[in-house]
Amino acid sequence: MNYPQVRTRIAPSPTGMAHIGTFYQALFDWAWAKRNGGKFIVRIEDTDRERFVEGAEEAIYQALDWFGMTEDESPRKGGKYGPYRQSERLESYKKYALSLVDKGHAYWCDCSKERLEKVRAEMMAEKKPPMYDHHCRDRNLESGLVLRLKIPANQKIIVKEEIRGEIEFDSNTIDDQVLLKSDGFPTYHLAVVVDDHEMEITDIVRGEEWISSSPKHKLLYDYLGWEMPRLYHTPIIRNPDKSKMSKRHGHTSVSYYQESGYLPEAILNYLALLGWKNPDQKDVFSLDEFIDKFDPKDLNTVGPVFDEKKLEWLSGEYIRQMDKDELSNRIQTYAKKYSEKFGSAKLDEELVKKTIPLIQERVKKLADYYLLCRFFFEDVTPPKLSEDASKWLQATIEKLTIIDEKSWVATRLGEIMIEVCDSQSAKRGDFFAMMRLTITGEKISPPLNESMEILGKEKCLERLRDARVQ
Ligand code: GLU
Repeated sequence: MNYPQVRTRIAPSPTGMAHIGTFYQALFDWAWAKRNGGKFIVRIEDTDRERFVEGAEEAIYQALDWFGMTEDESPRKGGKYGPYRQSERLESYKKYALSLVDKGHAYWCDCSKERLEKVRAEMMAEKKPPMYDHHCRDRNLESGLVLRLKIPANQKIIVKEEIRGEIEFDSNTIDDQVLLKSDGFPTYHLAVVVDDHEMEITDIVRGEEWISSSPKHKLLYDYLGWEMPRLYHTPIIRNPDKSKMSKRHGHTSVSYYQESGYLPEAILNYLALLGWKNPDQKDVFSLDEFIDKFDPKDLNTVGPVFDEKKLEWLSGEYIRQMDKDELSNRIQTYAKKYSEKFGSAKLDEELVKKTIPLIQERVKKLADYYLLCRFFFEDVTPPKLSEDASKWLQATIEKLTIIDEKSWVATRLGEIMIEVCDSQSAKRGDFFAMMRLTITGEKISPPLNESMEILGKEKCLERLRDARVQ
């Protein structure tokens, strides 16, 4: 390409929630622009008015910001190649569409819906792929319901795909694609070509479902006298059972991952792994490392499987490596955003900080934090104890009551509890299970002695005294 700068784009249609697949594409487009000091653009493909969903565009920006892949140009940011919403670029499409009519590469068609349906049905009955029958091709209509691309007969159309090499298509298998619809809006095929050209896009990383459209685009580029950007296609992400990730099957919405408390950097790392093999054979790598090494030519062509368990593991790795204050801040931010998950509890900042060393190794997602640490912030339901256990408890209360605040530290507490346990001839496992349940309300919890230190003498004794004999 002759453009001075690498320019990449995503071109999402605002038809629903922010889909994880969009950001899988976006990551590669964004990283390639960053690696080359270029620009990453968001263009909103809103020409399908029937599928338009209010708020969908906002959801895309919100997710981009969350991932830290903020774009350089878009409807919200502006830029000199705008407008960046297709519905605001209708004049441009019309101009080029009409120039194609002048050059004899496009024609008006006034076939009614009923006629088209009849033709389709006839072809299907003959076991032929349903295609337009060229009824209006040579009628030279001055206007019509739609404008169609005149696909030449008996030609090989060769598309250069940067990962797969040259792909050959037989023009006889390609339909006379509608370019302008009856509502005056362009179809995707016309709009994408015009926009990618006018916005000087040099590289397009997109899903492999668009490969079959590329010969139509190639013809449009040729007829309009433009150079085609470099094309790279990523394989479709699948569920572990190999089915396609869809709204009904698998978690596709970015908001699901946000709400589950996955870290955005872990998700990006995982998405990168799905499409690309790190030459250093590493599974965990930073975004900067990725940008440094990524070339879209190295993208995989085999369908990756989205395994949430692996994502969870990666997220846990990121949490383990995170600076403690940073982790504490992330937990706070998460708790504020999803306060409904935190009951009535307010997460005291200092208290959260103190608990971090206890849980950093165990938490995989931010949502796990509260599941483990609820007892620091909320009262626990006093357990009902057996007679033996309540005897042990009484002895423990006596010992713990007399130690002074200064000695209320994990190691000392541990020693005292072992002494009590042994003096009562209790089994250690049973004794500590009783203590854990009384203090934390759970059978599994962060380390008990440290938890008791953080909770403090008063709270611990209160919980011990509240436990009841069955
Ligand atoms: N609007 C298309 C989509 O929603 C964009 C395809 C492309 O990147 O060319 O996926």
